[in-house]
Amino acid sequence: MNFDYDLFVIGGGSGGVRAARIAASEYGVHVGLAEESRMGGTCVIRGCVPKKLMIFASQAGAMAAESRGYGWPEAQSGDFDWPHFHHKLERELDRLEGAYTGGLQGAGVDIHKQRARILDAHTVELADGQRITAKHILIAVGGRPQLPGIPGQELGMISDDLFTMERLPGRVLVVGGGFIACEFATILKGLGSDTVLAYRGDAVLRGFDDEMRRHVTEQLRMIGVDLRLGAAPERLDREGASSVRVTFKDGSSEVFEAVMFATGRAPYTQGLGLEELGVKLGRKGEIVVDEWSQTSVPSIYAVGDVTDRVNLTPVAIREGHSFADTVFGAKPRKVDHSLVASAVYTRPHELATVGLTEEQAAARGPADVYVASFRPMRSLFGGSEVRAVMKLIVETGTDKVLGCHIFGPEAGEMIQMVAIPMGMGATKADFDAAMAVHPTLAEELVTMRKPTRRIGGDNADKAVVSA
Ligand code: NDP
Repeated sequence: MNFDYDLFVIGGGSGGVRAARIAASEYGVHVGLAEESRMGGTCVIRGCVPKKLMIFASQAGAMAAESRGYGWPEAQSGDFDWPHFHHKLERELDRLEGAYTGGLQGAGVDIHKQRARILDAHTVELADGQRITAKHILIAVGGRPQLPGIPGQELGMISDDLFTMERLPGRVLVVGGGFIACEFATILKGLGSDTVLAYRGDAVLRGFDDEMRRHVTEQLRMIGVDLRLGAAPERLDREGASSVRVTFKDGSSEVFEAVMFATGRAPYTQGLGLEELGVKLGRKGEIVVDEWSQTSVPSIYAVGDVTDRVNLTPVAIREGHSFADTVFGAKPRKVDHSLVASAVYTRPHELATVGLTEEQAAARGPADVYVASFRPMRSLFGGSEVRAVMKLIVETGTDKVLGCHIFGPEAGEMIQMVAIPMGMGATKADFDAAMAVHPTLAEELVTMRKPTRRIGGDNADKAVVSA
C-alpha cells in the first residue's frame, strides 16, 4: 500500500520534533508533522525555557543584597519592569520557534500547523478535513495542566498563563507543592509579588528525599513566600472587577489578584480518537507503550509526557530519538528510565537529585547515608546563613552509590556530572578517589569521610557518626 508519508508525527514538542528530524535527516524518511499551537511545545514555549529565564530575572534582588555584603553599599535591584522582560521573552521564544521550524523544514519535514486526530491505524485527519495516510504514526502531544475540580476554578490561571500576563499580580496565590508550584512561587516572590503558596501536604515536593524536601520547604519561607501547609482552596469567587476570593477548606477566605493552579499535569489524549481505535490507555489517560514506545496498535507509537513514564524534556527527546533509530535506522534502542537526574529550580538553592531517596534505599536494604551540611563561602560572606546540603546514599556491602541529592546553588549543574559515574555503577571509593577541586561546593561530594547514619537492615540508625 502507498502512504502519503512514512511517518506522521502529531505534536511539535521536544519528543516529536526530535523523532521527525532524526527520521528525516538521518534515515531519509518522508515525514509529516502536525502542531496545533506554537512549534517547540511545552518546554520551549510555556515551560522549561521561559521558566528558567524568569528564574534568572527573579534573582536580581538577592544578587543586590549579596553585592551589598561584598562592599557595594549602593547595590539595589529596583522595581522589576515586566513589560520590558516580557517583550524580550516573546522575541526569544519567536527565535526559538523559528529555529525549531527551520530545523524541521531543513530536514525535509512537512509541517501542518493544525490539530490532527487519528482515524485508523494509518490515517490522520487534520482540522481542515484533509486526510493523510502514513505507514507509522507517532503521538507526541505531551500533557496539559490539571485543575483540582473545585467551583470557580476557571477564575484561576495555569502555568501557561504566567508567560503571557499583562502585568505582575500584586498578591498571588499559588496552589500545589510540586515542581511548578515551588519554582513559580520562587519566581513570583523574587519579581516582587506578595506570594502565598498553599499546599495540602506537610512538606513540598512529595516523592523527593524527605530531608531535602524539608530544606526546600524552609527555603520558601526564608525567601518570604507565605507558605500555608495543610491548606487547599475549596472554591473561588470573583471579588470586584479584578480580584478573586479564595475560600479554603478550613473555612477561611482571602482575596488575591491572581490564583495559579500548579496541581499537576495529565496526558493530553482527549479527542485524538484513541479509544475508538483501541489504543490502550492507562488510568490517567496515558498511552500505554512497550519498551520500544509502541502502542497496542502496531503502527502507532507514542513518546514523551503523553505516555507518563518520566515526564521530563530530555527523556522525551531520548524516546523520540530511540524511536527513529529503532523503526527507521535498524538500530534498535531502548530508553533506560532508571537513574534520570532532575532539578527543581528554586532559589537561592536548587534541589537536584539522581537515584534513590533515603526512604527508597532504606526499604531496599542496608545503606550508609553521608550528609554534608555547610554554609557556602560565597553566600556566607555576602551575609546569608542559608546552608547547602549534599547527600550520598551508599549500599552496604557493594559500596555502590545508590542516590545523590544536592540542595545548593547550581545543584542542577552538579547533578548532571554526578549522573555520569552513577550510571557507570560508581562506588563510594570511586567518588573518594577523585581529587577535590578547591574551593568549590562540589568538592564536598568527594570528601565525605564517614557516614552520618545507617539505614535499612538490622543496624539501621545505630552508626550515627559525625561526618
Ligand atoms: P507535580 O505532580 O509535581 O505536583 C502537583 C502538585 O499538586 C502536588 O504537590 C500535589 O499534591 C498537588 N495537587 C494535585 N492535585 C491537587 C488538588 N486537587 N488540590 C490541591 N493540590 C493538588 O506537578 P507539577 O504541576 O508541579 O509539574 C508537572 C510535571 O512537570 C512534573 O511532574 C515534572 O515532571 C514536570 N516539570 C519539571 C520541571 C523540572 O524539571 N524542573 C519543572 C516543572 C515541571 P500531592 O503531592 O499531595 O499529591
